Parts: sequence; C-alpha cells; structure tokens
Amino acid sequence: MRRLRVKLKGAVQGVGFRPFVYRLAKSLGLKGYVINDSKGVEIEIEGEEEGLAKFLLKLSKEKPPLARIYSQEILYLEPIGYSDFEIRKSNEEGEKEVLILPDIATCEDCLKELFDPSDRRCLYPFINCTNCGPRFTIIEKLPYDRKNTTMKIFKMCSDCEKEYKNPLDRRFHAQPNACPKCGPWVSLYDTQGNLVAEKEEALSMLIEEIKKGKIVAVKGIGGFHLVCDATNEETVRLLRERKRRQEKPFAVMFRDLKQVEEYANPSELEKALLLSPERPIVLIEKKKELAPSVSPGLKRVGAFLPYSPIHHIILRGLDFPVVATSGNLSDEPIVKDNQEALEKLVNFADFILIHNRDIKRRCDDSVMKVIGGVPTPIRRSRGYSPLPIELPFSLPRKVLAVGGMLKNTFAIGFGNKVFLSQHIGDVENLTTLKVFEENIYDFMKLYEFKPEVIVCDKHPRYETTRWAKWFSEKEGIPLIEIQHHYAHILSCMAENGVKDKVLGIAWDGTGYGDDGTLWGGEFLIADYRNYERVFNFKPFKLIGGEKAVKEPKRVALSILFEIFGKEATDLEIPTLRAFEKNEVEVLYKAWEKGINSPLSSSVGRLFDAVASILGIRQTLSYEGQGAMMIEDLYDYTEKDHYGFTIRGNQIDWREIFYEILKEKDKGKAVSKFINTLANICLEIAKDVGIQRICLSGGVMQNNPLVSRIKELLEKKGFKVYTHQKVPPNDGGIALGQAVYSVDAEK
Ligand code: ZN
Ligand code: ZN
Ligand code: FE
Repeated sequence: MRRLRVKLKGAVQGVGFRPFVYRLAKSLGLKGYVINDSKGVEIEIEGEEEGLAKFLLKLSKEKPPLARIYSQEILYLEPIGYSDFEIRKSNEEGEKEVLILPDIATCEDCLKELFDPSDRRCLYPFINCTNCGPRFTIIEKLPYDRKNTTMKIFKMCSDCEKEYKNPLDRRFHAQPNACPKCGPWVSLYDTQGNLVAEKEEALSMLIEEIKKGKIVAVKGIGGFHLVCDATNEETVRLLRERKRRQEKPFAVMFRDLKQVEEYANPSELEKALLLSPERPIVLIEKKKELAPSVSPGLKRVGAFLPYSPIHHIILRGLDFPVVATSGNLSDEPIVKDNQEALEKLVNFADFILIHNRDIKRRCDDSVMKVIGGVPTPIRRSRGYSPLPIELPFSLPRKVLAVGGMLKNTFAIGFGNKVFLSQHIGDVENLTTLKVFEENIYDFMKLYEFKPEVIVCDKHPRYETTRWAKWFSEKEGIPLIEIQHHYAHILSCMAENGVKDKVLGIAWDGTGYGDDGTLWGGEFLIADYRNYERVFNFKPFKLIGGEKAVKEPKRVALSILFEIFGKEATDLEIPTLRAFEKNEVEVLYKAWEKGINSPLSSSVGRLFDAVASILGIRQTLSYEGQGAMMIEDLYDYTEKDHYGFTIRGNQIDWREIFYEILKEKDKGKAVSKFINTLANICLEIAKDVGIQRICLSGGVMQNNPLVSRIKELLEKKGFKVYTHQKVPPNDGGIALGQAVYSVDAEK
C-alpha cells in the first residue's frame, strides 16, 4: 500500500476535472480525496502500487478534453488509511501564485492545429497558447509580459492580436503568441554558413537530410540538439566521433508512446512520466536494439517524446526515432545562440536549423528514473525549473547556495521556497564557471534578489567554492561552508518535509570530508543544525588520486593489496590482467608508501572495484559507467548476501571482496554485493535506533540497491525517505546547502 499526492497546475479548474478524478479513483478502487485550491488541484490517493501507476497514466491520457496540465508534481508517501474517495470542499483562499513558469510541452489543442491543413498555423513551428509553449527560456524580466520576453521584436498581426485580447480565446494573454504571418521563422544553413532554405522548405529539407543519414543541429526551447537517425549505426558512430563522446548514452526522441513501446518496455509509471507535461528523458528498459552506439553496454535507454512544435513536425516526417543530444562539445554548456551555433556546431552537424526567437537562458533536458518504485530526478532542468521546492519552514535569511562542482545547480532561497537553478553542468573550467556566474546574476536580477548569506561546499578546490569566497568578500556577505554529504542528507530531508533528526545514508563517488580525506560511504545523524558522522566505510587508498576515479582497476588493486598484500600481484583475475606486470609493482610501491594515494571511504568507488574484479569494466569513459553496468546485472530473485564486519564505527569490506573473488557467476556476485550493502544499512539503522532514514548521494541512483534497502528497512518499521524532487546526485545538494542556513549559528 502506498499513498500518492499529485499537485496539478494549469487549466484544471472549471473543466470537470474533479468529477473525472473521482470516477477514475473509484474505478481503480483507490481511496483519498481531490480538492481545488488557489494553486490548482491537489489529489491524494491510496492503494496498491500498480493501481497508483495506472491512475497516473490515465490522468495524463484520459483527462477531460478542456483540461490542460502544465505542471504535475507527484510524491509517494506513507499510507494513512483513507476509508473512501471524496471530492473535498475547495479551499480557494491563499495567495495566487506569481511564479515564473517552466517551459511547457505543446498541448493537444495546438498539436491538432499544427497538423490541420485548414488551420492558419498548420506546420507553423512556433504554435503555442496560454497552456503551452516557452516561458522560462524567453523571459527577460518580470512581470511576464510580451515586452519582457524575447518575443518583443515581433509585432502581432491583427488576427493574433484579436486572440491575445479576447478573454474567451485559448490565446488570451499568451505572451509568445504568433503565427506564420507575424512570428518567428526557421532557416536552414549548411556548414559553409550558406542559407539553404527557409520556413516550410527548411523543415522538409531537414527531414530529408535526416533520412539520408545526416547529422543536423536543431534549435529548440532551451538550446540546440544534435539530431540523427537513432537506428543508423554509421551515423550514430560518426556523431560520437565528432562530439568526442565515447560511450556516454545518447537520449532518443520517439514520435509517440507507440513508437517507444516498439523499442522499449516502459512500465505504467514510466509511461506516465513520458507523457507528463514536463516531458523529461526517462530511463527505461530496452526491448529492440536501436543503433548499438546509442547506449553501448547498457540495458536501458533514455527516451523522451517531442515537446516543441519543431520536434513534432520533424518526428512526424520520419518513421524512425532520432538521437537528440545536447548541441555542445562534451563538458561544455549547450549552445543556445544562432551565431554561436553557426560557429561551433558546424563541427558536428551537416546542417543547422536556426530560428529568430532568441533563447534567453539555456535549459537542458531533464532526466527521470524510477528508483525504488518512485520517479526520481537524475537531472532537474527543463520543464521543472524554475518552480520552487517548498519547505516545511521559513528561511530566516535570503540565501544563495552555490551547489557542488559536478552536475552543478545553484539555488536561491527566501520565505518557505528554494528556487533551484536549471542544470548548469560540471563547473570545472573557465567556460563553465562563466556560465555558472552568468546564471547566478541572471537569477538575482530576475527575482530582484540579494543574498544575506551564501553557502558553499567545504571542498577548497571546487571552482564554485572559490567563486563563493570571492563573491562573499566582494559583497561583504557572510559565507557558510557545509560538508558535502551532510548537504546531500539535508536536501533529502528538506524536500520530504522532514523536521526531526534522521539517520542519513549518503553514498557517492566523492566529497570532501571534515578530516581532509575523501568521503563517500557515510552514515550521519543529522538535523538542520548539525550532524555527526556515526559510521563509515573503512577508508582505502586511491592509487594515483584523480586517475583512480576514472580507472576502476586502480581501486580494485588497492582493495586487493589491502587484503593480500604483495601477493595480490599474482592473482589470476581480470583486474591484474588489465595491467602490465611492472606497472603493478610500481603501483604497489605507491600504495605501500601512500604516494599520491589519498584515502577514500567512497561506496561509489567500491562499485568500481567490483566492476573491475568481475571483469565488467577496467576504465570508465563517463562517470558512473561501472555502477550502471553493475545495476544491469542485478538479479531481483537473488536474496542472499555476503558476510561483513563492523569494527568500531567502520564497515570492513575485506570479507565481502574475499567472497566476491570466489564467486563464479558475475550476476550472483553483483546481486549479493548489492544485497550486502542493504544489509549493512539495516544493521546500522538498528544499532542507531532512529526511525527516519534518508538516502542520498549518487550511489542512491541505483534502483536495485535503493529498492533492497527500502524493502529491508521498511519491513523492520523504519521510514525510508528518498529523493523525488531534486536529484540524489550532486545536482541536488544546493537545496541542502540552502536549508543549512536556517539554523547554522555562524
Ligand atoms: Zn497550446
Ligand atoms: Zn500573427
Ligand atoms: Fe556527492
């Protein structure tokens, strides 16, 4: 039994929505209520997991014809035992929300017109209405009026203006309203910078070129995509070469749900996510192989559906799905401006489709994954940003939280809301640092916000931390530092509205610890004021420092040295075979003397070690690759686990690896390893005795691990909280940093 809370915004009042929800809930035997409030519709339903997923899917698919949803927030909660389903008396009080809305996927009404030959907007790639279209990416300043958007340069024709001024029209006050006569248009360029075609012709030519196996760049809502036939191996491989992106999976855009189901096996819940107005990329199980280079070595594919009229027009013209990956060089921000595209994207694409509606700010596609039975953001960006996360308390000071270094998002917080930025990316070089800074200034200007306190990570070498120090000194604003894993746990507490002390389990690749070593396998007792590190994994040496992060074989070697000493050199296993004999000896000396071998307690690295020892992966071509491949091998029927020892406050992993070495079957080893980690959580939770458990950190993106932890702990009466609004990875820590300012006595 689960309880599900759904908050819907959009045209959901006065359109027969509540009776529809009532009938739907009744037909599925679900209990709870539906209510209108000043912000939209709130629904709570209780029932079996399958019924809840069906409810969500039908909510998207069968809603009343006039209902339009542009934001759907879903949250799985503990059941509280409703006895029936009821329509509650509406609560119209409370302030109307004046928020900047995210970009909203093309609605069904607009879609109908888009492909209606008699409509004046037939095949017009900028069709939109009050219920759909760009928002966040075109706003220059508040209030949200046409003159304050990048649409200001287009003067509405008389037909458009009539719609815009008519309160009964679907386009009443639709700020980006436009038509082929008065609005923006597309044009197609070749790599020499020549204009090849314009308007409808540009689109039909583009479609023909994609069919021929060409790679094209397409300007969308929050930036450019690189697009090509996802079933054409030669083309996809060429794209990898040009983008210098070895194996990191590409997202695939499908024409519709039917086409998704041809290639993949989405669950009901995943289908609901694909169809949600946010249109995120959803990680789902493959069924039929696309071009092998789309997501090499993985059993899942990142799938999404068209969300702008341009996508719809392109996908309708093709009978295959397309790769749609962000238009940039690996590790650089997504390209958004025409000029930049014509300079940079010519290196990747054979043709470039631009348009003359400017993108004010970048916004990458969002990524969702069902983890432990609930939809979890892996990247929270387009469709969700900049809607705030609501807190169970008010922030005493206006706070700017700069986030981490990898997968950066930052946040500003005031009142009971934290506004998390869109995905910024890995802030590791000057280019990304500049984008990070620009976006902070952008948020401050947009919200007329001046921070009273700044929060950053403790890591002295994070570019974001350095920036925060510089900015705090320059502006004379106090700066608070917070430990990385503590911020992870606070973010999980805050989004779940947890107020009391928790046992936080924060496992990730790496984070700067209070003792100067690298943490990442942490058990913390935490509240908003402070934390205590109560248990952690026994630290091991990362031979070669940064190098070990990219080479699981080095982590494995360190583990083996720890268990067998020098004799590890003679082991006949994949790890050793991945090195030259003399290399191993050099590394042994480095390990023994601790040369360039920082200590780490990271569970992410332990996953890497397992990947190496089992011969799954010796070097990584992108972050998290080893862990993803391990996840794919997990067998849900395996209930067995390995032995482990907890000495003092340290978890000794030696016994686990000793047994993995003896295991013949990879799948069994992986499954028992993951089960062991879950059992460790159970042991420690029982020992600590706090009922509320928060799971966070990049390792908690692993579905079998989180599912198993929840299963074991919930059976023993623990309440397990996971992420549903912000990512478990470093993309979520800005939220934890922001709420730390509540009680921090600094
Ligand atoms: Zn619309
Ligand atoms: Zn017009
Ligand atoms: Fe982290």
